[in-house]
Amino acid sequence: MTPPSEQLAALPRRGVLLILSSPSGAGKSTLTRALLDTDSEITLSISATTRARRPSEADGVHYRFLKQREFDAMKDAGELLEWAEVHGNCYGTPREPVEKALAEGRDVLFDIDWQGTKQVCEKMRADVATVFVLPPSAAELRSRLERRAEDSPEVIASRLRNAAVEIGHVDEYDYAVINDDFERCLNELRAVLHAERVRRARQPAITDFAAGLVKDLADLQPS
Ligand code: 5GP
Repeated sequence: MTPPSEQLAALPRRGVLLILSSPSGAGKSTLTRALLDTDSEITLSISATTRARRPSEADGVHYRFLKQREFDAMKDAGELLEWAEVHGNCYGTPREPVEKALAEGRDVLFDIDWQGTKQVCEKMRADVATVFVLPPSAAELRSRLERRAEDSPEVIASRLRNAAVEIGHVDEYDYAVINDDFERCLNELRAVLHAERVRRARQPAITDFAAGLVKDLADLQPS
């Protein structure tokens, strides 16, 4: 007989669409990488963007870097699940990989802003869990942006202005974590993901499993 724990692990479930938002510099990308590296069931949604590639970034890994007309063509063809203008550039989530992952019961991690989060929630609320990552302080956010040294002072100033707008949307999220201690914050994210995976509504097969248990219990009764 298959042990119950193995039966449960094999039960099909719907994938989790885990959305992370934060102001630039709150450490979200490092958290995202760490989560992806240590959890084989979740894949990153690779956004399309018209922003210039940073030296540390690779096309198709961090983003799909597109010309404005290429981005507009994807948008007009309905190939983006959501899109938004952030810091003067366009960013959007290609629809197809997300739908494919969901159909296969795999989880998808999104690193998108509050505008994109709102759009995905409007379309797929039942599948979504949203997490906002806050920096421990304004001073720390600025020094992280400066330490990264990949953006000009004007870009950093605009990102700090945008941070206040982004943080103003924290109450629209299901979960919020403060990234003062990286390991603790990562563990909190893992806990959210694990809890979301075992939501009953994500496991339709649980109903039949429970019915089987009820039947087995009846069989166990002395006649
Ligand atoms: P960065 O230029 O620093 O990589 O990203 C700037 C902001 O754009 C971040 O807040 C990030 O979450 C957001 N962003 C990245 N990809 C997408 C996307 O596909 N859609 C939306 N709405 N925002 C995105």
